[in-house]
Amino acid sequence: MISHVLPTYNRAPIAFEKGEGAWAIATDGSRYLDLGSGIAVNVLGHANPDLVAALTEQAGRIWHVSNLYQIPQQERLADLLVEHTFADTVFITNSGTEAAELAIKMVRKYWHDQGQDRTEILTFEGAFHGRSTGAIAAAGSEKMVKGFGPLMPGFRQLPWGDLDALEAAITDRTAAVMIEPVQGEGGIRPLSDADLQQIRALCDKHGALLVLDEVQCGMGRTGRLFAHEYAGITPDIMMVAKGIGGGFPLGAVLATEKAAAGMVAGTHGSTYGGNPLACAVGARVMEIVADDAFLAEVNRKAALFRQKLEGLVAAHPDVFECVRGQGLMLGLKCKAAPADLVKAGYAQHLLTVPAADNTLRLLPPLNITDEEIAEAVARLDRAAASLA
Ligand SMILES: *Cc1c(COP(=O)(O)O)cnc(C)c1O
Repeated sequence: MISHVLPTYNRAPIAFEKGEGAWAIATDGSRYLDLGSGIAVNVLGHANPDLVAALTEQAGRIWHVSNLYQIPQQERLADLLVEHTFADTVFITNSGTEAAELAIKMVRKYWHDQGQDRTEILTFEGAFHGRSTGAIAAAGSEKMVKGFGPLMPGFRQLPWGDLDALEAAITDRTAAVMIEPVQGEGGIRPLSDADLQQIRALCDKHGALLVLDEVQCGMGRTGRLFAHEYAGITPDIMMVAKGIGGGFPLGAVLATEKAAAGMVAGTHGSTYGGNPLACAVGARVMEIVADDAFLAEVNRKAALFRQKLEGLVAAHPDVFECVRGQGLMLGLKCKAAPADLVKAGYAQHLLTVPAADNTLRLLPPLNITDEEIAEAVARLDRAAASLA
């Protein structure tokens, strides 16, 4: 008999009833050190007092207001995002998938309004942009699309990081290039600054829009507010979600005035998108994370964590190949699929997340302490040793 919850996930037999910072407390009272953060979502840890205050304060006032009216909390969040990024304008969504859908619509509308037949969006193998029909067509992975055809047309996948393939594929008919600066689900695979600069240059040469998916790598995860800042380039459109709500469902599409020009009244909408509750939390997350001192701490801790992980890899050469990633978006490339290692982590009361390309993802809350980093590495060490 089918479970009452649609069985689309292989779930571990653990349930959590409480959280405190980097710790998730299970129903049996045991404490798990959380290096998954709900997949890069809980950027400020569990039950962060500032976020609880922002949420409960707003919850006592008004939860939901239609976009038929002005929403000051939404304007505040948009102001903060514009102030700290390349963007001129922002649409607030409830998830990363919805952000991807709007990004695709925005690209199409841009070229439609230019009177040009440019609909092809170039994407990359190993990409993840969500699970809607549009987002699976964009990523094109066999695993995600099988059985869900016909696929939405207009996407072409290129080998990951293959700039020769991009140069050969991009033409004056290309609508956009859509890419994650650091692939998350694909296995914590960062693009080099030089690659990102070259992608921007190729888009400029052919007039194509550059769409960056920073749903996983954004919001301070890499040590900059957004990962593309390292390369000194800016996109035309960017998707954000996961970390921006600190655990409350929230996403956004950021765009330049030019790229967004076609999105006039009536062209897009959302019942819940930009509601006061989500935006009150999102604005508080932005105030905390977009702070230079906070980001400097993320970088300091990331260097400490990485150094310890290099030692871990050296100590278990039969389990690990290397460390990769940037900031606190780290991956341990393993010799085999990391499913057993994730399980061995559970036995050590440690939460990690598997990814493609034999990679174990480590995505701790950005405010994890030095002591917790040392404890996490000790638990990873025991988990790896238990596999031998
Ligand atoms: C998680 C993710 C998405 C989809 O976000 P949802 O909130 O799950 O819809 C899109 N792009 C990237 C890079 C992601 O990591």
